[in-house]
Amino acid sequence: MQIVIFPDPVLKQSCEPCGEHDKSLKRIAKQMAHTMYKNNGCGLAGPQVGILQRIVVLDCDTESNEPHPVTLINPVVVETSGDDCKENEGCLSFPGISVPVTRKAHAVVTYTDLSGHKCTIEGEGLLGRCLQHEIDHVNGITMIDRCDPIDRLQAIRDYDAALAAGARPGDVSIRAKGER
Ligand SMILES: [Zn+2]
Repeated sequence: MQIVIFPDPVLKQSCEPCGEHDKSLKRIAKQMAHTMYKNNGCGLAGPQVGILQRIVVLDCDTESNEPHPVTLINPVVVETSGDDCKENEGCLSFPGISVPVTRKAHAVVTYTDLSGHKCTIEGEGLLGRCLQHEIDHVNGITMIDRCDPIDRLQAIRDYDAALAAGARPGDVSIRAKGER
């Protein structure tokens, strides 16, 4: 699968719900997980690979070296809580940059798994942020839609420079560390 990068208009589209008994979802999820790991991502949403359906794959398990992909079909953020946290986020669709985005610390998400079961996942820290970021994607919202206007201007400038310097999906910051 090819990663769709900003400003491709696909990233602005709100996605259709997945069919509950759609047999192709398992294959799509497997390919998405493969693409996510290959590009060193911790989350990937349908539109980022040109699939305008409500499907997300993520793996925020930082404890283990083994892959633990979770597939969320038709995910919905049902609750966010806790403090507003402003932290840098990266995105496979924005090679070469990270952008400060303010989000709630904790998120609760309902979804259907690949076996058709209704599930809930919740978390804070990386998982809470990743859930909110990925579910934004299936609603046609990217991280730069979520950041402050001044940070957005800087992000677009950095992004143009990063692309010009040859940034690839998975490069969070192509600038030398300490330059920022
Ligand atoms: Zn993203």
